[in-house]
Amino acid sequence: MKIDSLTAREMPDNRTTAPHILPIYATSSFVFEDIDQGIDIFKNIESGHAYSRYANPTVDTVAAKIAALETFGLGIEATAVMTSSGMSAIATLLMGVLKSGDKVLSQGNLYGGTTELLKGILGQMGVETVFTDLRDLPTVEAIFRGDSAIKMLYCETPANPTLACVDIAALSAMAHQYGAYCAIDNTFCTPLLQQPFAFGVDFIVHSTTKFLNGHGNSTAGIVVGLDHKIMREGVWRAMKLVGTNCSPFEAWLTYNGLKTLALRMERHCQNAQQLADFLEKHPAVEKVNYPGLDTHPDHSLAKRQMPGGFGGMLSFELKGGYDAGIACMNRIQFCTLAPTLGDVDTLILHPASSSHLAVPKEARLQNGITDGLIRISVGIENIADIKADLVQAML
Ligand SMILES: *Cc1c(COP(=O)(O)O)cnc(C)c1O
Repeated sequence: MKIDSLTAREMPDNRTTAPHILPIYATSSFVFEDIDQGIDIFKNIESGHAYSRYANPTVDTVAAKIAALETFGLGIEATAVMTSSGMSAIATLLMGVLKSGDKVLSQGNLYGGTTELLKGILGQMGVETVFTDLRDLPTVEAIFRGDSAIKMLYCETPANPTLACVDIAALSAMAHQYGAYCAIDNTFCTPLLQQPFAFGVDFIVHSTTKFLNGHGNSTAGIVVGLDHKIMREGVWRAMKLVGTNCSPFEAWLTYNGLKTLALRMERHCQNAQQLADFLEKHPAVEKVNYPGLDTHPDHSLAKRQMPGGFGGMLSFELKGGYDAGIACMNRIQFCTLAPTLGDVDTLILHPASSSHLAVPKEARLQNGITDGLIRISVGIENIADIKADLVQAML
C-alpha cells in the first residue's frame, strides 16, 4: 500500500465502543457486506442503509423517538420522516400525499410561511387551498359537501398569535366522512401537551426547530403518520426525491433537546400561566390571550385537547396601541426580541411592526393581530425576572 492510500476508510475496533449517547453518523453512504445485501436493500427486502438522503441512523433514531412520543399510551404505532425544517416537513407531506387537482381546506391564521406555501407554491402546482374559520363546523361541513376535490384538512391549534383553538376530533371526523385526510401542525404543543392522534388525525407535522429542540440551535422538521404505506410510498418518497432530508447533525441537536422536553414544557406552562394571570391584572394591558385563562374563548376546548398543559405561548394587547407596542419593545432588557419561539429563553415579538409588517392592516386585524399586540414565547427562566422586565417596559 502507498502512503496516500492510508487516508482511506478506517473504523474503530467494535469491542467496547457501544456509545451511551447517539452518535452523529456523518456519512453520506453505507457499506454493503456483499452484493446480495446491496440488492436486497435497494429492493427494500432487507431494511438497511444505503445513502443518507434515503435514511441515516442518527436521523431515524430521532424520528422514531418523536413518533413514540406522539403515540405514547395510545396503543398505536406511527412512522416518521424527519426533514430539513418545519416548512420542508409541511411541503413534503403535501407533495407526498396530494396531486394536481386536489384541494386543501385550512384556516386563515396559520403560521405565515404555511399560508404562503399553500397560496404560492402549492397553488402554482395545481393544489388550491380553501381558507375558512375552522371553528365554524357547519361552514366546514358545507364546504366539504360542495367540493369533493378537498382531500386534506390542514389545521393548527392553538394558532398564532391569539392562541385560538380548533376542535381536532370534530374536524378529523368530518374530514374522514368526506374522504379526506386530516393533518395538524403540533409545533406549539409538542406531544407532551397534546397528542392529536388521540383525536383521529392522520398526520402530524412539527417544526422541531421550536419546542422539541428547545435551544434555538437547530432547524429541522418532522412528519408523523399512522398509515405506514402512505408514509413510505408518499411522504418518505417525496422526502427522498425532493431531497428535504434532515442533516444528521441537526437531528442530533434535536435529540439532545428532547432529553429535557418534559422538564422544559412543565416550566414553560407554569411560567406562561403565571405571566398571563399577572398581565391580565396590569393597568396598561387591554387583553391577554392564553388558553389557560378561563377568559379565553377556547378555554374549555383547550382543557380537553391539551391535557398536558396550556403551553408557553401567549399574547397581550397594550391599551396604547401601535406606539405603546413599539415603546415597550424598545425598553425590553431581559427578554430577547426575536421572531422565533419555543426556546428556553423568553422571546418577544410585536407582530404589527415585524412578522406582519407586510400584511394589509385589515387582513391583520381580521386575525386578531391588533396594533398593540405583543406575542411572548415564555421561557424557562425565573418568572420574577420575566415579570420585572415587562413591568419596566410597559411603564
Ligand atoms: C416555525 C414554525 C413553522 C416552520 O418551521 P421552520 O422550522 O422554521 O421551517 C411551522 N409551523 C409553526 C407553527 C411554526 O411555529
